[in-house]
Amino acid sequence: MISNQEPQQIKVVVIGDSSVGKTSILLTYTQDRFPIDYVPTVFENYSNVISVDNTQVQLTLWDTAGQESYERLRMISYQAANAFVIVFSVIDLQSFENIWIKWLPELQKAGKDRLPKIIIGNKCDKLNDSLKFQVFWEKCELENIRFIECSAFQNKNIKNVFEEIVSITIREQ
Ligand code: GDP
Ligand code: MG
Repeated sequence: MISNQEPQQIKVVVIGDSSVGKTSILLTYTQDRFPIDYVPTVFENYSNVISVDNTQVQLTLWDTAGQESYERLRMISYQAANAFVIVFSVIDLQSFENIWIKWLPELQKAGKDRLPKIIIGNKCDKLNDSLKFQVFWEKCELENIRFIECSAFQNKNIKNVFEEIVSITIREQ
């Protein structure tokens, strides 16, 4: 069957503390490799048509590069967002704490807290401690938010992160 439906537009904004690997995750996903030499601070917004769960999606990805300390600028990038990827570093516990202290409250303040979101524990290549991972899992499960561990460095689970958030968004819309 030929479908002439326009692809569904989905805008995903990637948020989280500085240095947790947001730009690296986006570059690894869009270029299929980790930026070994250096990670630019600016990731140009990226848009591509992908197929998830048999649905054509025009996926647009927004970084929050260099805006970690500019709440007002971040709020602008949240406009028309359909979903959020909240990133922390598994070797920086404060970046995990800040999800509950800073990032989720900010989404609430922006009126976006009911949109689909997932929590990403990046740099899992650096942590080999299943107890710590269990703490992340349990907290996210308690809050009813999907948790995925990944490594931009090893390109581990990076594609899954974006397919998963798109899949959740398609289901919840
Ligand atoms: P952002 O500030 O959240 O955008 O973080 P960046 O993408 O600029 O990454 C911050 C630093 O962490 C850089 O030096 C990256 O090379 C490094 N980094 C990013 N992802 C990973 C990862 O998965 N594993 C490791 N070991 N380092 C990473
Ligand atoms: Mg960045």
